[in-house]
Amino acid sequence: MGMSRTFDAVVIGAGIAGTASAWYLRREGFSVALLDTHYPGWGASGRNPGFLWLQTKAAGLSMDFSLACRRFAETLAGELPDFGFRASGGLIIYRDEQYEPAARAFVADRVAAGLPVELLDRAALRDICPDIGPEVSGAVWNPLDAHQDTRLLLRHLAGGFSQAGGTVLAPARAETILIEGDACRGIRLADGTQIESRIVVIAGGPWSNGLLELLGLEIPYNPTRFEAAETAPAPFRIEPVVSGQSLFRYFTPPGIDASLLPRETSEKIRPELGFTEQIASYPDGSLQFGCAYEVGSGLDQATVAGQAMACSITSRNFPAIAGLPVVRQWAGVVAQTPDGLPVIDAAASPAGLIINAGHFFGNLSGAFSGRIVAEMAAGRGPAYPVSGFSLRRFKPVAA
Ligand SMILES: Cc1cc2nc3c(=O)[nH]c(=O)nc-3n(C[C@H](O)[C@H](O)[C@H](O)COP(=O)(O)OP(=O)(O)OC[C@H]3O[C@@H](n4cnc5c(N)ncnc54)[C@H](O)[C@@H]3O)c2cc1C
Repeated sequence: MGMSRTFDAVVIGAGIAGTASAWYLRREGFSVALLDTHYPGWGASGRNPGFLWLQTKAAGLSMDFSLACRRFAETLAGELPDFGFRASGGLIIYRDEQYEPAARAFVADRVAAGLPVELLDRAALRDICPDIGPEVSGAVWNPLDAHQDTRLLLRHLAGGFSQAGGTVLAPARAETILIEGDACRGIRLADGTQIESRIVVIAGGPWSNGLLELLGLEIPYNPTRFEAAETAPAPFRIEPVVSGQSLFRYFTPPGIDASLLPRETSEKIRPELGFTEQIASYPDGSLQFGCAYEVGSGLDQATVAGQAMACSITSRNFPAIAGLPVVRQWAGVVAQTPDGLPVIDAAASPAGLIINAGHFFGNLSGAFSGRIVAEMAAGRGPAYPVSGFSLRRFKPVAA
């Protein structure tokens, strides 16, 4: 109690966003403490199957930023020890012919947004992905989608951070941000320890508002639970990352009425659940698949209905998976902002406060956001303009 330590910067939350922020702040020469309530990677960053999707991004800032993040992933893959990054390409497959117009509209929209996507018929699809089931009739192919092991990426960043003299404090819960005048002075932990620091980075994922509210700030995100599961090593590999037709209801292309697209019986067990039909092979041969999701749910455990849906529909997309042992089932919670983009913002009062939260597609954006944070803290113009990621963008414009 009452103990105090001093750093140039303290980063709250050791998910991919916070860990990358800490790593790049350290590389800028700051002394840095990185905190987590449990351990680095405890949140969604340690629980997601590692997809880097470009096809799911809409034209405009979301696509432009995602492409910049994707280029950055290549850079990182060249700099860090192997974190499973592979430019695998990605498929959104569909079984039901009624989804074909949605797939077609999706392709037109993404081509207009600058992505090299194309519609594949079953024969072309089988060349890329021989293990698809007989029900699958076509797919949208994007060669830029990719895969990584985000847990490994985070481990390399956290390890490099420690080796470079950074301090990881975990388990440690930040309880309050200490303010002096209109500037950050540090934080207080739940055990009473004070950390003096003029720069405070909030990277607490869907728990960030607990701290921001004390400063009268709030990100209007919705917590969303995403579920996943893992098989034992499979006797086959799925080279591209794959998702399925239900995704067209989530990322509905212009001109398509999502409510008219048919839902599978297993998607009706609990109508509040959505589904994305994702699957990827890991280097050890295991398959990670899902993802049932529930908007507005902060429950970080897998549910019976979510797993039932994933197991049933994934077995139809890839019948060879049906006989494999399931070795793990889990869920994580993600912060979903109204525009799906994160808040990366140093403009908010008090001085020294940097927000790096609200990452909905943190596999892509997390590491890059960390570099942006460090550049802002160092007083340089960041490598990517952050005006579109301000907290104020959510506030109604005053009359
Ligand atoms: C099953 C699943 C599938 C997903 N699929 C994809 C996908 O296909 N593509 C994609 O890009 N993304 C996907 N995601 C989302 C991605 O995982 C998140 O966007 C990303 O991990 C968010 O990273 P983060 O660092 O912002 O938050 P998190 O990883 O949640 O980290 C936040 C950390 O902050 C800590 N913390 C919070 N409050 C405090 C406090 N007061 N004091 C100390 N520590 C605190 C928490 O303990 C936590 O470890 C998926 C997620 C899941 C769960």
